Amino acid sequence: MNESPRPRFDADLIEKYGGEGPRYTSYPTAVQFSDTFSAEQWKDALDDSNRLPIPADLSLYVHVPFCSSPCFYCGCNRVITRSKTAAQEFLVHLEKELDLAAPHFDRDRKVRQVHLGGGTPTFLETAQIGQLMRLLRSRFSFAADAEIGLEVDPRSVTPADIRELKGIGFNRISIGIQDLDPEVQKAVNRIHDAALVASIIGAARAVRSWQAPGRDPRCRVRRPDPTEHEPAGRGTTPHRQNLEPRLWIEPRRKRWSRKSARSFPTLASS
Ligand code: SF4
Repeated sequence: MNESPRPRFDADLIEKYGGEGPRYTSYPTAVQFSDTFSAEQWKDALDDSNRLPIPADLSLYVHVPFCSSPCFYCGCNRVITRSKTAAQEFLVHLEKELDLAAPHFDRDRKVRQVHLGGGTPTFLETAQIGQLMRLLRSRFSFAADAEIGLEVDPRSVTPADIRELKGIGFNRISIGIQDLDPEVQKAVNRIHDAALVASIIGAARAVRSWQAPGRDPRCRVRRPDPTEHEPAGRGTTPHRQNLEPRLWIEPRRKRWSRKSARSFPTLASS
């Protein structure tokens, strides 16, 4: 009788990576920030990037830090507020920062990717998101096929907002759904019912062509495969909640599959 191979543990490796690490969501990670790197050095670095033989295209990330309520698992850099004036002040400061940074990039360098993250980008009214995009577009040259995406909290948008976001130019959205089990939602202080999620996904599906030309979709919402087992754990899959059409929210750990995502717009749960 064959014995199962015994697991091998590398004590040195466990020792090396056994501690806390920086969150992968921030880059450069927090431990890379240092007071010894001055504003002048930063500007020099931006200017130097234009002098490369072939200056690189650009990706822009805007962190919108506001959230209406705290999710208890959250480790993001966020500000909990319900003040809408905070959003307008944020845009004023963002414009100032853009005025400082944008002139350091040659205008013939194309923006290939934009991402609004948070926080909750959809804390901003759709009109304010439109204003934000105009600030960016007026200072940078966008590639015609730029991927323009944002994170969407289903609690803070309506189907009409989704259509407006498409009109503003977004071609990728990431819908933040942690769990559909009401008990789990209550425990993590992030409550949205399946019908709400379905209405947002339905609106996104109705607005086709999310996928930026020439780019692979990164899709975490897909049709259930009848041969596939339920993910381990509680009954949190949407189709158990009578969410129609039958959708299966792919757990974070699973890799996206091109085959399974073929018939869906570019949606990604964050
Ligand atoms: S919405 Fe996102 S950033 Fe805001 S508290 Fe929840 S997890 Fe954190």
